[in-house]
Amino acid sequence: KDGKDLIETEKPKETFHDVGGLDAVKKKIRMNFILPLQQPELFAAYGKEAGGSLLLYGPPGCGKTFLARAIAGEIDANFLHIELQAILSMYVGQSESNLHDLFERARDNKPCVIFIDELDAMGGSRNNMRQHHDRMLVNQLLLELDGLQSFNDGVFVIGATNTPWYLDPALRRPGRFNHLIFVPPPEEAERETILNLKLAGKPIDRLELSRIAKDTRHFSGADLEQIVKDAVEGALERTLELAEIQPITQEDMRKSANGRKATTLEW
Ligand code: ATP
Repeated sequence: KDGKDLIETEKPKETFHDVGGLDAVKKKIRMNFILPLQQPELFAAYGKEAGGSLLLYGPPGCGKTFLARAIAGEIDANFLHIELQAILSMYVGQSESNLHDLFERARDNKPCVIFIDELDAMGGSRNNMRQHHDRMLVNQLLLELDGLQSFNDGVFVIGATNTPWYLDPALRRPGRFNHLIFVPPPEEAERETILNLKLAGKPIDRLELSRIAKDTRHFSGADLEQIVKDAVEGALERTLELAEIQPITQEDMRKSANGRKATTLEW
């Protein structure tokens, strides 16, 4: 199977509006990525250089993938999600040519955001054979990154990792992943915003989400999304029982929040 069959590009509908909180992160991305693309003269006048790639790091489930999709949504670009684990599991040689094919695919679908997940998976191996394989793939990725002519090329690369300390240093040089952005777990007010976003349009009772936000310290955005899903199930069960739409209640939310554990604590 060649790389072009491997993954299809898509056009994400998400925008920054769908990403709850993370205001500082969004601002930094706007300033360094989106605005230079939309108003290149302005940035050139200040000698501010565009280009390079963005590396998002932070605990799992806190919106790295979601943000990358939203960036594509903001600039109306295609989106290509590369899962490095899957590529690494191929034979030596095949991994590299697949990676190359994927970059080609992105170029054929300009403007395109390439999102590379689990960047740390490369180079973390202790096994000698694997190490050699990893190195070849890192080299191929470096080649691809160096081959991109900043934004004018219309291909933007966003990398993500939960463990930036394992990252191959060569990936951090200028022109490569030179914008490093921490995507933190949501704070209380951000948790309330995320809960509101995930509940939007659903039948709800009078909810006191600030209460739930307070009680969900160290929960990730993904955890909060799951709380809402569980609460929806509760309301749906009653709805089916009573054959009439039953709103999501504070009790549904409270119960599902209590039934979940925070996942960002150990990070
Ligand atoms: P991983 O490191 O495990 O890949 P991630 O940081 O890429 O995690 P996402 O896949 O972006 O996490 O988040 C998982 C889900 O959680 C998203 O699909 C989204 O629905 C929800 N989510 C996370 N953070 C936010 C947020 N700030 N606003 C809205 N939804 C969020």
